[in-house]
Amino acid sequence: MQQSFMKIFGIFGDPIEHSLSPAMQNAALRALGEAACYHAFRVRPERLEDAVLGAAAMGFGGLNLTIPLKEKALKLEILQPDELARAIGAVNTISFRQEDQNIAGHNTDGDGALLALQDAGVRVRESKVLLIGAGGAARAIAYTLEQEGARITIANRSIQKAQQLAACVGGLGFSLDELSRLVPGSDIVINATSVGMKEGDPRLFDRRLLHSDQTVFDVVYNRETELLQDARKAGARAIDGVMMLVYQGAKALEIWTGKKAPVVVMERAVRESLRERQAKVEKETKESREMRKAEETR
Ligand code: NAP
Repeated sequence: MQQSFMKIFGIFGDPIEHSLSPAMQNAALRALGEAACYHAFRVRPERLEDAVLGAAAMGFGGLNLTIPLKEKALKLEILQPDELARAIGAVNTISFRQEDQNIAGHNTDGDGALLALQDAGVRVRESKVLLIGAGGAARAIAYTLEQEGARITIANRSIQKAQQLAACVGGLGFSLDELSRLVPGSDIVINATSVGMKEGDPRLFDRRLLHSDQTVFDVVYNRETELLQDARKAGARAIDGVMMLVYQGAKALEIWTGKKAPVVVMERAVRESLRERQAKVEKETKESREMRKAEETR
């Protein structure tokens, strides 16, 4: 029996089992009517080159990269990073050109953040942006918003990293101790650290520093963070990391297919996956509590 041809797309990372990209991209590919599927592959850094060459040889439609491979990809000789990926220092999207076997590296994280802000009606040009964090996500956001005409200040736990990144985007870098001074005067406050991913993470700054003229954007997408709750209470505009995830994926899909990405479908798929995940965690917590109780009364 002749099997119908399916184009394969994928995400490489390690760990990778919790990635939301397969749910999001498969929903998008279905909506676009593409005969294609998107899988997650666990790839260790030392096998990245082999894995990318294998995907190219097998005619993959495109790849995403996630932790811990984004920076490593930039160093691969087989890959041509574009100007933005080179400036950011990381590749999160790979495209293959079959005609000349070119393997290109892109970074769509910054565009993801910019589109998430624009989608919420936020004006970036001339705005005073306080970017908290100086890791991979922060670098992508800093370069993209700087190109868009934002005035950027960086605060980070490691002040040296804050100053280095700030110097690249024409701003100043500070330690987190300065947040009480920096937050009130900013138009847009962005959390690009991993703080907030876990329930009970301490707040980066006092919630009373926020006010209703501000936009607060948290790149964390796995839960509703305390920072976003504080922003809503202060009457500020609150944007979660889901839209950045969706738009970085949408940009990647557009690079691979040349078609406009179905953003609404992609957002729905991500939020549905997050709800299912949350329900599973709650069920498991309830079951283990009941088991403990039963053991205590035995
Ligand atoms: P990363 O390169 O490891 O950088 C981590 C950043 O968080 C650094 O600035 C680090 O400060 C800071 N940090 C970590 N723990 C901290 C703590 N306890 N207190 C204060 N600062 C702390 O990671 P990344 O790739 O940039 O990811 C950062 C976050 O962005 C993660 O939550 C990730 O899930 C999210 N993200 C979201 C999207 C999206 O599409 N929504 C895309 C990419 C990443 P130091 O430099 O001092 O260590």
